[in-house]
Amino acid sequence: MSRSNPILAASAQSTEAYQQAIAQSSAAVVQWLQQPEMYQGKSVAELREHIKLNFTAQGLGNQAAIERAIEYFLQDSLSVHHPQCVAHLHCPSLVISQAAEVLINATNQSMDSWDQSPSATIIELKLIEWLRTQVGYPAGDAGVFTSGGTQSNLMGLMLARDAFFARQGHSVQQDGLVGNLKKLKVLCSENAHFSVQKNMALMGLGYQSVTRVKTDQYARMDLHDLAEKVAQAEANGEQILAIVATAGTTDAGAIDPLRAIAELAAKHQIWLHVDAAWGSALLLSEQYRHYLDGIELVDSITLDFHKQFFQTISCGAFLLKDARHYELMRYQAAYLNSEFDEAQGVPNLVSKSLQTTRRFDALKLWMGLEALGQKQYAEIIDHGVTLAQQVAQYVAEQPSLELVMQPQLASVLFRYRPAQLAGNGDAAIALLNQKIGDALLESGRANVGVTEHNGVTCLKMTLLNPTVTLDDIKRLLSLVETTAEQLLSA
Ligand SMILES: *Cc1c(COP(=O)(O)O)cnc(C)c1O
Repeated sequence: MSRSNPILAASAQSTEAYQQAIAQSSAAVVQWLQQPEMYQGKSVAELREHIKLNFTAQGLGNQAAIERAIEYFLQDSLSVHHPQCVAHLHCPSLVISQAAEVLINATNQSMDSWDQSPSATIIELKLIEWLRTQVGYPAGDAGVFTSGGTQSNLMGLMLARDAFFARQGHSVQQDGLVGNLKKLKVLCSENAHFSVQKNMALMGLGYQSVTRVKTDQYARMDLHDLAEKVAQAEANGEQILAIVATAGTTDAGAIDPLRAIAELAAKHQIWLHVDAAWGSALLLSEQYRHYLDGIELVDSITLDFHKQFFQTISCGAFLLKDARHYELMRYQAAYLNSEFDEAQGVPNLVSKSLQTTRRFDALKLWMGLEALGQKQYAEIIDHGVTLAQQVAQYVAEQPSLELVMQPQLASVLFRYRPAQLAGNGDAAIALLNQKIGDALLESGRANVGVTEHNGVTCLKMTLLNPTVTLDDIKRLLSLVETTAEQLLSA
């Protein structure tokens, strides 16, 4: 057994191995970035056949393991920075975010106690304080970085539920759920993220607890229907734990009318959570910040930075307006956040998070804000929203394309529907659009989303990438058309 020490540490042998491994990996990334294809086009079956774990008795060593990762992972990865990679809310990342990852990974701090992450704990706290000022919350540090929107939504829903029970003198944390659980409801729009349902199921209340509010022509929550659903629930003896509004629905980018919903929620003393996983990027916008009007009124907020903030996955946050609600999930672990520590003001973030061991993802946003500054951050966010408006206009002018929905954030919903197919049933057009999406990915040239809007199968472009131009998208749309024509003539 003569292989060298594999642990990152101070020895010359270790630091040399570290630098070699990082240099080899980053050189491979630079090469990969230059691949012209968006994707090599391998099918599911081909990749299953191709990719094999090589776990040997002696080990391959770092260099060979990295070479294999380049061959089996990197080569067949999706180029998220490619101008024709527009299927999802999946961003190309900032260079500074890559540098932050080097620091985050090498130091391997863990955010669950101060003694595992002293400077990191303070940086995260200060960033939470700063985010609160950005949304217009009172000063404080109630909030935490999370793995993303799904977890942040879970925190909002869970605290809303437990605050509801606490008002009746019952602790869910201590004694679990009681009463007629079928009567407990959460209201969100038809276009809310599916994690609302998943989280309600996880919380023991099932999909049945989610009442879907109708949406208007712009896919936003319909206020009349919301008022009606609240009245109906009250008439039925149901109890509403929370309303979840969305600032930036995943497909249409719709922003629910936050201020009006907040007024209604306040009148009925209902917790209002805003899922701003996407829309939170507008906090830094110069041109579109007003879309978030009223966000300061809500009880809790989901923010994602691995979407239109261009941070690497994962990076999200949860903000809680009233810090006292954090008491509802308080747990004192002797080894992490002891009473003794807390009496001395030691900040142990474990009590603010559902996670225990947790990455220092906050550093990415911190360094991103410092490196780019206000102007450039606003520019790269506003670019996508403005581009979506231009693309929508262009789509509307094309005889064979149909704009399915006027964009609000940076996504464009459309479908291929030339005049000669107008007589065909909707099912045939839906199938054709589905096939267009599949054929584009298979060709490796583009990744365009396929989704449904008001029952209409359509294509989706999520235009996050700030380096993409209207001309790039025109080229992509002509590729959509030629692909469609080939499918039709096949
Ligand atoms: C992406 C998204 C989520 C889920 O967030 P993750 O970070 O993927 O967990 C939730 N809500 C909305 C509106 C989203 O767009």
